[in-house]
Amino acid sequence: MACQNCGASDTIKAHLIPEAFVMEVKVERGEQLLIVHEGQARPKVSNTGNYDPSLLCAACDGILGRWEGYAYTLFKRLRGVRAELGSFAAMGHVDGDQILRFAAGIAWKFTATQKHFGKIDIGPYSSLLKEVAFENAPIPSSVDVAVVRLVELDGDVYYYREPVPARHGGINSVRFSVGSFVIYLKTDKRPNDRTMPPECWLKGRSEGKFLIAPAEYFTEGKLHRELAMKDPVRRFFGDMRTRKQTRTQNK
Ligand SMILES: [Zn+2]
Repeated sequence: MACQNCGASDTIKAHLIPEAFVMEVKVERGEQLLIVHEGQARPKVSNTGNYDPSLLCAACDGILGRWEGYAYTLFKRLRGVRAELGSFAAMGHVDGDQILRFAAGIAWKFTATQKHFGKIDIGPYSSLLKEVAFENAPIPSSVDVAVVRLVELDGDVYYYREPVPARHGGINSVRFSVGSFVIYLKTDKRPNDRTMPPECWLKGRSEGKFLIAPAEYFTEGKLHRELAMKDPVRRFFGDMRTRKQTRTQNK
């Protein structure tokens, strides 16, 4: 199939969640990742995460790659910010529009991919997000972005979560999680959700704030915990640990 953005015929294996964020989840080289989809009995074992071979050409994938690289570096830096849990911390310099285009690109990929990769339906916002992500067009008022840092016990990254349509304070959004952050991409004509101060909404900002919160207060943290305690996830990681111990003992 042709590139879903420009129509070029030579598509590449485009990662839905950027590989850098997937690799970050893993602790050791060669360690595998388990992809669990709601309602799907068998989880999928993966090395680099899902990619769709008929979504994007190399040039268009590269456009999104720029925003993804920016977000990856920013989140890494922000994970080093120490502040009390439950507080709004200053980000320092940030290019809010790049974070917004990053979020729009990830969300758009999931609207344009195939059903078995976790396609989402957000109606006309799909084409709006595509413009925001691929064309350096002015960003409409119906979209904005905020990020929340989820802190696990030792502050590390243990999972990512693919985009899902969500609703906060009655306002529609797409939310997903990478790099131990939850990203809220507003897709709604109404004003921003007021549960966060205005400085947390990053569009057009060169300085912003983000909430630092315990992971267990959020669906992402809860899901991870629940899944990790149940089979088949528990068995998978149990087996992996056993193999690792055997390797260490045999050295
Ligand atoms: Zn293209």
